[in-house]
Amino acid sequence: MDTPFTPSNEGIEVAVDAPLMEPLTYKNRDNPPCARGTSVIVPLGSRKVKAVVLGFSKPSGEYELKPIETTDPSRPALPDRFIRWAQWLSKYYLHPIGQVINSAFPPLKRLEKERASKKSPVVPQVETSSPPDLTEGQKSCYQNISSEQGFNVHLLHGVTGSGKTEVYLHLIEDVLQQGQQALVLVPEISLTPQLIARFSARFPDQVAVIHSHLTSREKTNQWWEVVEGNKKILVGARSAMFCPLDNLGLIVIDEEHEPSFKQEEKLKYHARDAAVMLAKIHDCPIVLGSATPSLESWHNAQLGKYKLHQMKNRVSERKMPEITVVDMRQKRRDQKREKNENTTIKESDLPFWLSEELFEKMKHTYEQGEQTALFLNRRGVAQTTQCSSCGYVYECPNCAISLTLHGKRDLVCHYCNYTDRLGDVCPQCHEGDVTPLGLGTELVESDIQKLFPDAVVARADRDEIQNREDLEDLILRMETGQIQFLIGTQMIAKGLDFPFLRLVGMVMADVGFNLPDFRTSERRFQLLTQVAGRSGRHGEKIGQVVIQTYNPEHVSITFTQQNDYEGFAEHELQLRQELHYPPFGRLASLRIQGMHHDRVERASDTLQRRAMHLKEIMPEYDDVSVLGPTPSPIAKLRGKFRYLLLLKGPNAHVINQYCRQLVATTKWAGTGVKIQVDIDPLNML
Ligand code: ADP
Ligand code: ZN
Repeated sequence: MDTPFTPSNEGIEVAVDAPLMEPLTYKNRDNPPCARGTSVIVPLGSRKVKAVVLGFSKPSGEYELKPIETTDPSRPALPDRFIRWAQWLSKYYLHPIGQVINSAFPPLKRLEKERASKKSPVVPQVETSSPPDLTEGQKSCYQNISSEQGFNVHLLHGVTGSGKTEVYLHLIEDVLQQGQQALVLVPEISLTPQLIARFSARFPDQVAVIHSHLTSREKTNQWWEVVEGNKKILVGARSAMFCPLDNLGLIVIDEEHEPSFKQEEKLKYHARDAAVMLAKIHDCPIVLGSATPSLESWHNAQLGKYKLHQMKNRVSERKMPEITVVDMRQKRRDQKREKNENTTIKESDLPFWLSEELFEKMKHTYEQGEQTALFLNRRGVAQTTQCSSCGYVYECPNCAISLTLHGKRDLVCHYCNYTDRLGDVCPQCHEGDVTPLGLGTELVESDIQKLFPDAVVARADRDEIQNREDLEDLILRMETGQIQFLIGTQMIAKGLDFPFLRLVGMVMADVGFNLPDFRTSERRFQLLTQVAGRSGRHGEKIGQVVIQTYNPEHVSITFTQQNDYEGFAEHELQLRQELHYPPFGRLASLRIQGMHHDRVERASDTLQRRAMHLKEIMPEYDDVSVLGPTPSPIAKLRGKFRYLLLLKGPNAHVINQYCRQLVATTKWAGTGVKIQVDIDPLNML
């Protein structure tokens, strides 16, 4: 595909916006022929489709080539470096080149005249701020990173509150001085107004923002601002990297460990890995920042492939929070004993999910006029509902998942949003009542309100916070101290910085982590550390964290309590090495899915046989292991049955070649069965 520019050849290779793995060749009609990167319209069957010119080739002469229809002047030409990157993505993730390239363009046509918008601006106008003096830690990281020229991957490992953002801001300042652009990617969830305001205060009128909560019109406008070079800094969620920048001087990936950098559908790319390739192509530095780096990045730093920079202390000598771990098994035993002895001690007056320790600290914090945040990884009132006489559980008819109770009677599927109503009696035996089991944020909220009737209690989860305005409003109320108790999911676990937040409670640190995935410990350690990092970020007083758990000996908890990332990484990497899991080997998953269970099962078995056969005839695949097929942990989702075949191999190249050959054709799978490849999968549910 990387054919050199030889305009005398008359075949033009284009990437068409269609599910085709390879480019198509058309006949040139202009003289000189349109250059690589030009958008054109080409005939495809009876349709006319959009396409981008990739290069030139000598036609084989076997077929009569069709000429391209026209060029498309509404789209600017894509830079060569962007196309090279898109070609890499297509090859590495086995995704049609035309569909990769077409992600470069904004959703709408450009408007000649902007209409005034009634909405709040995408990038708020805030008062300009000048940079603080860097701490010693910040200064040495900044200097070490900027002393290197050209492409380098820098891993910036700094504890929560160490001031990583200030290091980014200083590096960006230099990039602007050199007349170049900077790309800053953050997880969608931490792309908060707080963060955008910080960038825009430092670099007035230089910041563009792209994320999924913008309207198509807003996205299109931001895109043009960057592509035309009016804005030098693009801050965005992972998809922002498809905005074709041509003058990149720096890429920053904040919270590089976040799983949300991986796109789980269509082009299943990992934004961090794709960004490293983008930086390489632009020959510019890339900074990966985190308090809890992914084990992949940490391993690369240990091998010397990435340069490691560390900040072990918080800004202004603020202390790391004090972490108390509460064993909830003890509470359960106490409750049982109390029941048997029929005594009424105070403990039993607290809701089942709340320990005496956490309650006392909440009370104290409240009396001091400070804030408490409680985290729980589950929305709703109860995880599930079960009939007390026959055991019936309300399940989603589309997914192999039980419905979650919201409010008094609403049952919701958290995967497909199917809804049902909770009946008075069990729909199966028509006798027993159906009782809620487990816990969700709504129940925590109402329990807290009962314990502290005069306090202002707020909840932040997907049910309560549905748009940018809701979140802005909540943040403002937290910042100004109008809220005393904040209950939330992951949504508030990351990135936020509240001056009066003193106490953080992890209500049930085990929720959501009983999944069969080798990364579970890592995820849990990361989440606990991030959550703990929200407390005591300002002022003199030390922050308090309480972790309630049924599994206090778990390594993710003990290492969090000791604030020992490196100890955790060493422990975990050893396990990974023994099992040849990433970063010591590479994975690919093949998902087989369809509406008919028997067809899906049959296709899975055939796929496995073909995989084994490929190993037998090709000695270079000796080191590939084929695991499965097995039904996915979520065996049915949105009406489709799902099986998984997992491939484990020594390196990315072998895995890529093997997958490519295995799914070169999938016609044998039969109608209604789809096979999807996921290279370096994160989610195997
Ligand atoms: P991190 O991302 O490492 O968790 P932040 O970048 O959010 O930390 O910084 C934590 C807090 O410290 C922020 O409120 C920030 O404004 C403040 N801060 C950062 N650097 C400095 C500095 N050099 N002097 C004073 N305050 C700073
Ligand atoms: Zn469902």
